[in-house]
Amino acid sequence: MTPSIVFLGTGNADISLQKNTASVLIQLDKTNILFDIGRGIANALFRYGIRQDDLEHIIISHFHTDHISDLLPYLHSARQSGDKRTKPLNIYGPTGLKDFMLKIIGIMEYLDLEKNPFEFPINTFEIESNSKVVIDNHEFEFVSLPPANNHGLKFSVNDKTVAITGDSYFHNEEKEFVNNSDIAIIDSSHLNSDEIIQFDKQF
Ligand SMILES: [Zn+2]
Repeated sequence: MTPSIVFLGTGNADISLQKNTASVLIQLDKTNILFDIGRGIANALFRYGIRQDDLEHIIISHFHTDHISDLLPYLHSARQSGDKRTKPLNIYGPTGLKDFMLKIIGIMEYLDLEKNPFEFPINTFEIESNSKVVIDNHEFEFVSLPPANNHGLKFSVNDKTVAITGDSYFHNEEKEFVNNSDIAIIDSSHLNSDEIIQFDKQF
């Protein structure tokens, strides 16, 4: 598979007919990795042809609703015969991810939560801020960015460095994060035009 980056959403928390919440599908070799799964992203994956068993890795930048809300329908759908998951689902995120997953799964109290209500393994990995995580031999830096507990993702592919933010605000940490990257994917909804132009000058 040629490496590719697919924009499944480019919006923010505003309900919109044009834009899903910000989310990027990273395709490296035979591995699909999803960065954030807010509103509209479960449908967007399906529309793009990514079925449950095609995606084994989801990284969450932070726990704001517009970055995580479709995890609930996505998990429920994985149990259904229409697109039943058999492969493990590995979920990576900031400290607090394990508690967060218990809450998300706990919402589905109509399932028998005493037993595992899913026929596939769900593995959760809390990543310390500013550390690295390796997924299928690909290394990702999980970089702390304001606001609190927000993170960006940095990785290299074909000698190019890619930096993707969770929420983007104009501050020095953000400038440093995108500095020297070949491709920077920023969430523009929290920035004005002047600030975006200044980010552009980083390259
Ligand atoms: Zn946020």
